[in-house]
Amino acid sequence: MSRKILRILVTGGAGFLGSHLCERLVDQGHDVLCLDNFFTSQKTNVFHLLNKPNFELIRHDVTLPIFMEVDQIYNLACPAAPGHYQYNPIKTVKTSVLGATNVLGMAKRCGARVLQASTSEVYGDPQVHPQPESYWGNVNPIGIRSCYDEGKRVAETLFMDYARMNKVDIRIIRIFNTYGPRMHPFDGRVVSNFIRQCLKNEPITLFGNGQQTRSFCYRDDLVDAIIRMMNTEGVTGPINIGNPDEFTIRELADITLELTASKSQIVHMPLPADDPTRRQPDITLARKHLGWNPSTSLPEGLEKTIAWFRSIDIDSYRPPTPNYQ
Ligand code: NAD
Ligand code: UDP
Repeated sequence: MSRKILRILVTGGAGFLGSHLCERLVDQGHDVLCLDNFFTSQKTNVFHLLNKPNFELIRHDVTLPIFMEVDQIYNLACPAAPGHYQYNPIKTVKTSVLGATNVLGMAKRCGARVLQASTSEVYGDPQVHPQPESYWGNVNPIGIRSCYDEGKRVAETLFMDYARMNKVDIRIIRIFNTYGPRMHPFDGRVVSNFIRQCLKNEPITLFGNGQQTRSFCYRDDLVDAIIRMMNTEGVTGPINIGNPDEFTIRELADITLELTASKSQIVHMPLPADDPTRRQPDITLARKHLGWNPSTSLPEGLEKTIAWFRSIDIDSYRPPTPNYQ
């Protein structure tokens, strides 16, 4: 990996993954510019970095152009939890598409390398299992998840076309469900919901019969892979990044109940529209090209996440958006 000090822009840098990425890059000595509009995050996520001379926080919306000189760009700005991205779906499409256009324009002008945080959602409700990068997906273009799925798919298209047409140096990773400390406790994602509900001994909201599956990656493993992808020569992607250990959502509920020693009871709620039935990354390419393999098991990562949830004042976080009502 490069030891040179670089000027690095992280869009969405105050978010769950972005704040950890900024932290790592600051620790490596890089000059880090964190750009965020704080739609789904709060300044407290990066408060501890504000007094570092190599960290700068910029309030800005990626749908609007911005000019700065940088060597690398990590494009993470986009609401990621279903409740968040469905809150204002039109804005979600604009964030993905105009945001990608703006960072690609900047990368073209500066000669910067630019990485897109894409998603397993580009596979939709997959008919191929596990999902390799060569699978084109099964996405509903007009449903309630489409603003996110199709927005991210167009962003991938823009990245590939800027690479082909303008020779921009791009990277695309497809991130599968990632969890860990600093997730917004009210983001509505399954890990944060289950932990919060268990710690408060409130009912656990299991959507559908709980037999749908996800494969959960701990955030430290994920951030490690993002940085490797950015700094590996000759690998454009898309590359899947995730933990291939697959669990039913019912199993996740049972593990969370056990680790929190909670008295919560499971209540069944309707499955949201277009909820993918199965999801598991094929990470052959990440292993081969990045020499990367996730090392944190689900119980191990959940223990750390639960410890963080216990350490915060959950009631001081406002539920920012309606959550599947
Ligand atoms: P997050 O919501 O915590 O972070 C997203 C950040 O982007 C927030 O700080 C938010 O305020 C900011 N943002 C949103 N719209 C913006 C805009 N228009 N202008 C500027 N900033 C804006 O979510 P996260 O889990 O940290 O996700 C980060 C990225 O990774 C997203 O692009 C997401 O699609 C992708 N991703 C995450 C996961 C996951 O499981 N965590 C899975 C797949 C893909
Ligand atoms: N889910 C659930 N209860 C909740 C929140 C989510 O059963 O309180 C389910 C949801 O229906 C989905 C899975 O958990 O099948 C993962 O949901 P999440 O919103 O975390 O992520 P995504 O669907 O985007 O993978």
